[in-house]
This record gives sequence, C-alpha cells and structure tokens, in this order.
Amino acid sequence: MPLLLVDLDNTLIDRAASLARWAEAYLTERNGEADPALVAELIRLDGDGLRPKPAVAADLTALLGLTPQEESEVIAVLRAGVLEHLRPDPAVVPALEAARSAGYVPLVVTNGNVAQQESKVRLMGLEGHVAGMVVSEGVGVRKPDAAIFHLAAEAGGDSLEGAWMIGDSAEADVRGGANAGIPQVWLRRGRSYPATEPAPTAIADSFAEAVQIVLASTGPEVRTR
Ligand SMILES: [Mg+2]
Repeated sequence: MPLLLVDLDNTLIDRAASLARWAEAYLTERNGEADPALVAELIRLDGDGLRPKPAVAADLTALLGLTPQEESEVIAVLRAGVLEHLRPDPAVVPALEAARSAGYVPLVVTNGNVAQQESKVRLMGLEGHVAGMVVSEGVGVRKPDAAIFHLAAEAGGDSLEGAWMIGDSAEADVRGGANAGIPQVWLRRGRSYPATEPAPTAIADSFAEAVQIVLASTGPEVRTR
C-alpha cells in the first residue's frame, strides 16, 4: 500500500495560529497588553518554528528584554504555549480517513523535538488516524535529506513506490520529496511559491484539498509521469 507522507506543523495542525494566540497571551501577561507590532515581530522571529531554537531565544531576549533566567526558559514556555493554544481542524481527520479508504498509509514526517511533536499529534486526536511518525530529533536526520523519507518508508513497512509528500515548506517538504524521488503537494497558506526552490508537483490551499489532489492523480496516466 502506498505511503502518504505528511508534514505536521502547518500541515496537519495550524501551528501558526496557535503561536499567534500564545504570543498575544504571553505579551498581555508580561506587559498588560499585546502590542500588535510586537506580536508580529515575535511571530517573525519564530520563523514558523523552523529557526534554530537558541537563535530564537536570543532574539526574543533582545526583543523583550528578558532576564537570563527568562531566556533559559523561553523556549520551553513557547513550546508549552503552542501546545496549550492548538485547536483541532475538523477537516483533517476526514481527509486522513479518505486517504486510508483509498488505500494510502498516512505517516507523519516532521522536523522537530520528539516529545513536542508527539504531544501535538496526541492533543489533536490524530494518533489513531496515522500509521506512525518519524521525527527528525529521534532519527538524527532532517528534511529535506532523502534519508528521512527512506526511514519513513521503513517505519511504514513499505517502499516509497507510489508515495506522495504533503507539506507547507518548499525547502523541507517539496525539496525533500523531490530528493526522495516522490511527488509533492505544497500547501500555499496564502504565500507565493519561492522562486529559488524546485516547483512542486501540485499546490493546494488546505490539507483536505491536497489529499483530494493525491487521490485524483493515482490513475495510471499520472503514475507514469
Ligand atoms: Mg510545516
């Protein structure tokens, strides 16, 4: 059965919305108000969770005037805040189940911290709807390295034959899928595709739409592309 490899942050879960909710709450607690410009800067510094965490901690310290004690704790505070403010997307589980019904095995492939990523999957009730997850910290290799996709295939008990990758990062998910030789659907999230990255197989505006694209393109004429 072919694998449907799926990114986690901003693909199966809306980490960006959660981070924004946390940033507002955190700044309100610290400053008595959440200045929109400060919220926007905090979100920018986080870099969609893809920037190295020590750099994020240092930048948040400079931005907010954190004490050394606060700086040492700010990444743990941010991670806990992201978990606390996550909200389930009701369209995600039906899309995963549609993929399973069509014969795909959904498997999460994510760059991140094992405990954090497992907590997100559990909190959003996705555990029973994916066959498993491969987390970069746990396997010592990150997207876009093709090796993490081959490890995912091993975890799913199958090859990458017929597999697809769905994700919102051109650098990690689209380039990574291309490195592993599988087609990819990029989630737009209102952005334009970066001109410097290789073009994805398809572009979608939601995870559910991405799954529809995969399911619609499994005919022999597309398989041979
Ligand atoms: Mg992502």
